[in-house]
Amino acid sequence: KPTIGVLAVQGDVREHVRALESAGASAPLVRRPSELEHLDGIVLPGGESTTMDKLLRAFELQQPLQRLLAEGLPAYGSCAGMILLADRVLDATHDQQTLGGLDITVRRNAFGRQVDSFEEDLSMPVLRDGESQPVRAVFIRAPWVEEAGPGIQVLAQVTTGPAAGRVVAIRDDSRLATSFHPEVTGDHRVHEYFVDMVRAATR
Ligand code: GLN
Repeated sequence: KPTIGVLAVQGDVREHVRALESAGASAPLVRRPSELEHLDGIVLPGGESTTMDKLLRAFELQQPLQRLLAEGLPAYGSCAGMILLADRVLDATHDQQTLGGLDITVRRNAFGRQVDSFEEDLSMPVLRDGESQPVRAVFIRAPWVEEAGPGIQVLAQVTTGPAAGRVVAIRDDSRLATSFHPEVTGDHRVHEYFVDMVRAATR
């Protein structure tokens, strides 16, 4: 089975480990550079992207991770993890850096203060039974994708309210990113989808 590391410097690490294991992967924690070796893929969890950026630099994970992502290591970023994968960030803090790799511009805390956190059923047709079964999307001070380059495939958009039409799930060849947190719902189809992406990349 594929080995998909979970970046464990901050954020909701355990939920991703559980979701990945249910989706048929082994999911070792990644806290130091040596733990990046022999991974088939990596998950960057939700949390606080500015804190994660600082810790990545402090733990000397930033550069090796950037190199692996540039070489095509499959990666899935959820919420703050999406921000870490983005090439460009709006409303970043002044010294905030990302790992980059995904040709997208994300806006941090995009949904505004009044709607800090909310849930919505989203259509995500690429998932197993996705045509008929929506995914429960939990947004917590979430970013959205403001712009995407030509190699980016849109997988889900908000359907109702003032943010209707906003892009909240995307992928390119080997990278997946969601604004929301599928790891907290017990529905593991997004993680299954990523495990399939990893399998396709390692074949
Ligand atoms: N607002 C957070 C950030 O900018 C992301 C929130 C989350 O991951 N739930 O990093």
